[in-house]
Amino acid sequence: LSSKLSDPTLVREQALLAGEWVDSSEGKTIEVTNPSTGEVIASVADMSLEDIKLSIEKADVAQKKWARTTGKEKAAILRRWYDLVIANQEDLAIILTSEMGKPLSEARGEVIYGAGYIEWFGEEAKRIYGDTIPGHSEDKRIIVLKQPIGVTAAITPWNFPSAMVARKFAPALAAGCSMVFKPAAETPLSALALAALAERAGLPKGLLSVLPTTNAKSFGDEVCSNPIVKKLTFTGSTEVGRVLMANGAKKILKLSLELGGNAPFIVFNDADVDEAVQGAIVSKFRNNGQTCVCANRIYVQSEVYELFVEKLTEAVKTLEVGDGFDERTSLGPLINAAAKEKLSDHISDAISKGAEVLTGNEQHPLGGTFAFPTVLKNVTSDMKVAGEETFAPLAPVFKFDTVDEVIELANNTEFGLASYFYANDLTQVWKVAEALEYGMVGVNTGLISTEVAPFGGVKQSGFGREGSKYGLDDFLSLKYICLGGM
Ligand code: ADP
Repeated sequence: LSSKLSDPTLVREQALLAGEWVDSSEGKTIEVTNPSTGEVIASVADMSLEDIKLSIEKADVAQKKWARTTGKEKAAILRRWYDLVIANQEDLAIILTSEMGKPLSEARGEVIYGAGYIEWFGEEAKRIYGDTIPGHSEDKRIIVLKQPIGVTAAITPWNFPSAMVARKFAPALAAGCSMVFKPAAETPLSALALAALAERAGLPKGLLSVLPTTNAKSFGDEVCSNPIVKKLTFTGSTEVGRVLMANGAKKILKLSLELGGNAPFIVFNDADVDEAVQGAIVSKFRNNGQTCVCANRIYVQSEVYELFVEKLTEAVKTLEVGDGFDERTSLGPLINAAAKEKLSDHISDAISKGAEVLTGNEQHPLGGTFAFPTVLKNVTSDMKVAGEETFAPLAPVFKFDTVDEVIELANNTEFGLASYFYANDLTQVWKVAEALEYGMVGVNTGLISTEVAPFGGVKQSGFGREGSKYGLDDFLSLKYICLGGM
């Protein structure tokens, strides 16, 4: 891997523990493999519980000092970090593709997208305004301050190894918090590389620790019980989110949870079908279907159903599956064997209940975890794909007749992260957007994520927001001061 980079020092096998690059105190390591080739590309420190505890103590000391710095000082460091990320975009993308498998062009995009959060929150660091409120009696004055929450922790998944760091750490830093960060064990290299750049940008020691570990449960238990940690931001499965919420209850831990989704993608009769097909391709097949905002269920109104299905199938047939470093590749491998098994299970379950395969197959001549993108027709609500997030390149297309029917179908899930629809009638657009029980709605677009807007869900997709001014609030607490006796 190092030989592919202009700056080989961005490949870090040691962890960053409060400003020091160290091995695990237990001497253990994690092998990081390239999912396209199965090749081991690095052996990263597998941090122990003792290391985690130490990083939390150091984060506490560093945070108290950081909280006193001005917004301008915070902004300057974030700006320098942003500039370094941009300058090292290609190396960061190569590291990302090597550990996660996504096409290099998507990896480049992820690095830039993540950098956007660093830039945005750096700018916001100067604008953490409070409030003054007219008093409730003549001798009183009311002031509201926004203060950093303190020491925070983050746990992230493998699907956006680079952007996750920026989305979580940039607002924490801007707000005046420190962070103990656990990347997914499959993909620690991007987080470590970004940490190396943050250090170069002048980040004071202790504000960030990046601790890869195979003992995710120990990390979770420690941050949920250690009284120093005041907030946890988690992105991952609803099952793990539930465990963390239950464990955090003991100390009333403040949480942001960005959990699973089951996004509906609805195409109404009056939609521009070509645009809708393009939107569905982007929304469904980006990251090989492995994002929590990927379209999971495609609902198409009866008049345009056949046309949409035909055009979608044609478009899907043009997608190239392969190694992320091959410039022709639009879909890389799935992250692991379990992901491929889930895909197979969803396809065979749908076929057994009457769905028709228009293109695709989970078996690909490249073997491993590669799979052809698949389109299914005549999909119905009793199939697994209707209720569970496939997290793989499978596009199941359902048919519906009325607006009320599709809203009920779309909302009939415990999840509520992203939703999409294509329509042109203004009244219908407004009504459907309001009726969808989701934290995010894309209207006539399949791409909604940006640092300037609040990303997050409702229902069992979690709570808290990342990006925008609301994302900063997640790392601040309000203090109301009442001045009396005036
Ligand atoms: P995914 O299916 O996307 O891997 P997970 O929820 O299993 O979703 O994993 C997301 C993150 O949560 C990873 O960093 C993983 O190591 C971590 N994780 C898994 N189990 C636990 C746990 N019990 N406590 C804390 N973190 C956990």
